[in-house]
Amino acid sequence: MSAGIPAYDKNNIFARILRGEIPCKKVYEDEHALAFYDINPQAKIHVLVIPKGAYVSMADFAAKAGDQEIAGFVRAVGKTAEKLGVVESGYRLLANHGPNSHQEVPHLHVHIFGGQKLGRMIAVERQA
Ligand code: AMP
Repeated sequence: MSAGIPAYDKNNIFARILRGEIPCKKVYEDEHALAFYDINPQAKIHVLVIPKGAYVSMADFAAKAGDQEIAGFVRAVGKTAEKLGVVESGYRLLANHGPNSHQEVPHLHVHIFGGQKLGRMIAVERQA
C-alpha cells in the first residue's frame, strides 16, 4: 500500500465487470479500457471508463501504470466520447480519489457526463 492509497480489492464491482461476472451496458472496449453506462445516471449521458489493469484510483494509476497503459486509457476516454457523439456538444470528465471525493468503487473510473447543459463545475458545501 502506498501512502494514501489502499490496497486493490480484486472483488470490487468493476473488477467483477471486467471478469464478466456482472453484466454491463458496454459502450467501448479495447486492450486498455472498458466503457459502460453508469447504473445510476446523473446526467442524460453518464458513462464510466475504466482501465483493464488493477488500479484503485487516478493517484494509484499515475504512480504505477506504464506509459502505454496511461496513453491507452486516455485515448479510450477520447474514443468513448466520440462514440457517444458528445465531442461537438461538449462533455465533462470526473474522477474521484479517496474519502473527500466520496469515491464509492475502488477501481479507477472516469465519469463522462454529457447530452445536456451541465452547469458550472461542481456543487460543494463550503466549510469554514
Ligand atoms: P464513484 O462515486 O466515483 O466511485 O462512482 C461510482 C459509480 O459507479 C456511481 O456513479 C455508481 O452509480 C456506479 N456504479 C456502481 N455499480 C455499478 C454497476 N454495476 N454498473 C454501472 N455503474 C455502477
